[in-house]
Amino acid sequence: MAQFLPAGSAGEIGASCFYLNIDGTGVVLDSGTHPRKEGICALPQFDLFKDLPVDFGIISHAHQDHLGSLPFLVRRHPYIRLFATPQTRAIAELTLHDAVSILQGQFKDDDPVRPYTHEEIDLLTQSILTRPYGEAFPIEGLRQRSSVPLNATFFDAGHILGSAGILIEQNGSRIFFTGDVNLDAQTLLPGASLPNGTVDVLVLESTLGATDSSTIPSWGVEAGRLAKRANDVLEEGGSILMPVFALGKMQEMLALVWQLMERGRLPRVPVYTGGIGWKINRLYDQYRYAVPRVDGEFELAAVPQENIFKAERVEEFFRKPCIVLASSGMMIEGTMSFKLAKRWLMIKRNAIFTVGYMDPLTPGYRVLMAERGSRIQLTDFEDLQTVKCSIERFRFTAHAKREGLLEVVRRLRPKRVVLVHGDESAVDWMGYSILASFPGTKVHVAETGKVIEI
Ligand SMILES: [Zn+2]
Repeated sequence: MAQFLPAGSAGEIGASCFYLNIDGTGVVLDSGTHPRKEGICALPQFDLFKDLPVDFGIISHAHQDHLGSLPFLVRRHPYIRLFATPQTRAIAELTLHDAVSILQGQFKDDDPVRPYTHEEIDLLTQSILTRPYGEAFPIEGLRQRSSVPLNATFFDAGHILGSAGILIEQNGSRIFFTGDVNLDAQTLLPGASLPNGTVDVLVLESTLGATDSSTIPSWGVEAGRLAKRANDVLEEGGSILMPVFALGKMQEMLALVWQLMERGRLPRVPVYTGGIGWKINRLYDQYRYAVPRVDGEFELAAVPQENIFKAERVEEFFRKPCIVLASSGMMIEGTMSFKLAKRWLMIKRNAIFTVGYMDPLTPGYRVLMAERGSRIQLTDFEDLQTVKCSIERFRFTAHAKREGLLEVVRRLRPKRVVLVHGDESAVDWMGYSILASFPGTKVHVAETGKVIEI
């Protein structure tokens, strides 16, 4: 018997963090930050398990909403033993250091916690124990609470480099936490692997549960559409801005653009990238033989790229047609993609290509919903401006579509499903569909602070 206690990302896509107590051993699955909140408000509710045993922390992948609050978790529980895939640890070292200076500005002097430092990140990343996909490792014995051996195994989640689903097994009973999962191939990563056999409990992400899958064409169909529209824009002398997340989407879209150029489906115009995305590109290259890849020979370093930060003025991007991949993916205020979008909007021949999900409360969403000729305010504090450039919407998703999530249930045949990491409508659709398709399966909707006996 085990208890499952959500401390974030329940009923929404927030700071992923789940406390699991198995026979007296405390395991924290993920320790993220809320993507839209700042400072102390972005942290999971660690207080919910402050008086419970905390022995292990297992991280599914390196996106900030799954990893960003790990330094705060370790500060509270210095004896916690951490596990991740080697790739997740390598990315964590980059992104946590990168976040230090941003965090300094987000915490107030009277906040009960202070932001973390570079020294803390060095110690933290050194202490993460790495385990490859497919190899079971023991997670018991720290306090000798558990009388029966407890093991964990990582499975490739097909989402970003190093992403993993986490299988926890004890005495024949099995709990599987999907993390963020993707069953279909992207340009670089093939789809997820799942454990063989059935599980007792499935903790399932629900990101696209509310999204009609007919609005998410296959990766290949979207690639064809993107090539066609990009040709139109570039032929007219325009430049394309693609807002992307530095981790995952940057690498996948860069590989896609290059692949289209190599196949003669796109003209060989300059491609601009840069920042932390470059460092992450190197990790994608470094681990290309270590983890499953669509093409293990392909290297991002082979793609000619200009440094986006070397451009002295924005006008440089408009002198001749080019493609600019800039983070953040949702054009958050103050980021490169936000800054560039303001100028892009003013020029008729240009285009902004949105390639992924936009949270409704972000500037990216306002761009996504805008039409040429309409007036737009990127934030409530920005001036109104007329949308002169064209805006093209594409969906290249790194998450399983809702039918894919049901496929995970079909393959693992869990007795219980706990739905996490999705808004209310997503979780509703998933819950009803699972009950209708798999009679006898118990469905739990995770609620922050509410213990589920599993
Ligand atoms: Zn993710």
